[in-house]
Amino acid sequence: MNGLVPPEGTPLLIGGKLVPGGSGVFATINPATEEVLGHAANASAEDMNAAVGAAQTAFAETDWSRDPAFRAHCLRQLRDTMRDHIEELRAITVAEVGAPVMLTSGPQLEGPIGDLSFSADLAETYSWETDLGTAEQMGISSRRVVRREAVGVVGAITPWNFPHQINLAKVGPALAAGNTVVLKPAPDTPWCAAALGPLIAEHTDIPAGVLNIVTSDDHTLGARLVEDPRVDMITFTGSTQTGRSVMAGASASLKRTFLELGGKSAAIVLDDADIAGAASYTAFSVALHAGQGCALTTRMLVPRAAYDEAVAAAAKALSGIRADDPTKPGTVCGPLISARQRDRVERYLDIARAEGGRIVVGGGRPSGKDRGFFIEPTLIAGLGNTATVAQEEIFGPVLVVIPYDGDADAIRLANESPYGLSGSVWGADSERVDRVVSGVRTGTLSVNGGLWYHADAPFGGYKQSGIGREMGVAGFEEYLETKLIATPA
Ligand code: NAD
Repeated sequence: MNGLVPPEGTPLLIGGKLVPGGSGVFATINPATEEVLGHAANASAEDMNAAVGAAQTAFAETDWSRDPAFRAHCLRQLRDTMRDHIEELRAITVAEVGAPVMLTSGPQLEGPIGDLSFSADLAETYSWETDLGTAEQMGISSRRVVRREAVGVVGAITPWNFPHQINLAKVGPALAAGNTVVLKPAPDTPWCAAALGPLIAEHTDIPAGVLNIVTSDDHTLGARLVEDPRVDMITFTGSTQTGRSVMAGASASLKRTFLELGGKSAAIVLDDADIAGAASYTAFSVALHAGQGCALTTRMLVPRAAYDEAVAAAAKALSGIRADDPTKPGTVCGPLISARQRDRVERYLDIARAEGGRIVVGGGRPSGKDRGFFIEPTLIAGLGNTATVAQEEIFGPVLVVIPYDGDADAIRLANESPYGLSGSVWGADSERVDRVVSGVRTGTLSVNGGLWYHADAPFGGYKQSGIGREMGVAGFEEYLETKLIATPA
């Protein structure tokens, strides 16, 4: 396909060396065409073992954790070499992820590369020590200093939907904080991670073993990483169900777990909002990248009196969006990642019908597309908030519109979910909007279309959407330990 990804198989990066996988190779598929793009190294349990060993050795035997200026330099090199290879990376991303090419100038590629600057800058400017001054206990006066240090070896396990964003939002801060890392990307998108291997080995001064990349089609390698007692911390993004296994697996060695999990976020449209505008915006956003975003607002709560107006506006917006070839500049809704994911979305559409839902727009595979895992942008009406499709994460371009009666009911319904990742509030009265914002139990909220994604903005979930925050200073501090040093004063 291009220089970064030889079709016969990208290598693993272990201990600074590009090596083949002990279990051969596995195929990576173009979800828009169903063609095999090529192959990636399939790591064995021994490879994972070696990667953890390399990370542990690099942490113990190099100055990486003690030299923030060098870490900043290396992260800027990584950013720059990714920028130097941007068109190759873009081609990989569109082909392997099925990501609409327009999103690669934002969160699918260029955004997260730029965000490495934030991590590099933090390594240089962060206050690693805080002087608490002196205090007296039992007649002894002591000067106390709080020092922040790297946690150690970090295992990073990531999903396929925004692979660069999630890989780099973990690797950047973890490295900036002085940790060494083993990155295990999702089996569906190995090339996005593997492409970094040659860039790191050949264009950066990142010491051998500081960052290891282990691609595999075997989920149990992720579990192995979680359970390895030499790993000090797991940073995981994926489904809530897998997050539970990660937490359970990490408990044997009581390692720190940082979890970014699923969502079923609500857009609350208040009765003084521009109902049609809010409904079209919400519908459009659910179709982006075929709805494969954890933070998308896939439940739209609208005042009962404005229900028909909101459904009509959302229907108009969604019927104008075609699930299409992601390489076309105008495409916003590409394919789903896999046949398995498409089956899952279709199962949810069947459940919606069986529970009495009305499919207003979409509801299946687009006509004229016999290749590719496409699903039409879909609008479901006629169901309440306890319906399966309003409670469970579908991860497809599907919006459910639900009526409410009064602001308190809207807040109640928004919170009637096991998740608490994101959401939006639409309204004309800022005090009223703020009361609703205060009532909603989620980690991120957009007001009247505000965009929250940025390197300095912490992102993460309440409830079963996760533990901890990614990005921002909070996302950097997840990767730090705290050491208190007391000296007689
Ligand atoms: P997934 O949970 O199936 O897999 C995620 C990763 O975990 C993959 O690398 C997989 O190989 C690995 N894995 C699977 N089983 C494991 C185990 N037992 N132990 C350790 N690792 C294991 O998720 P997915 O289908 O790849 O991604 C979609 C999910 O990710 C959705 O639920 C979505 O909401 C969530 N997500 C959350 C965020 C967020 O920031 N909150 C962002 C993107 C995606």
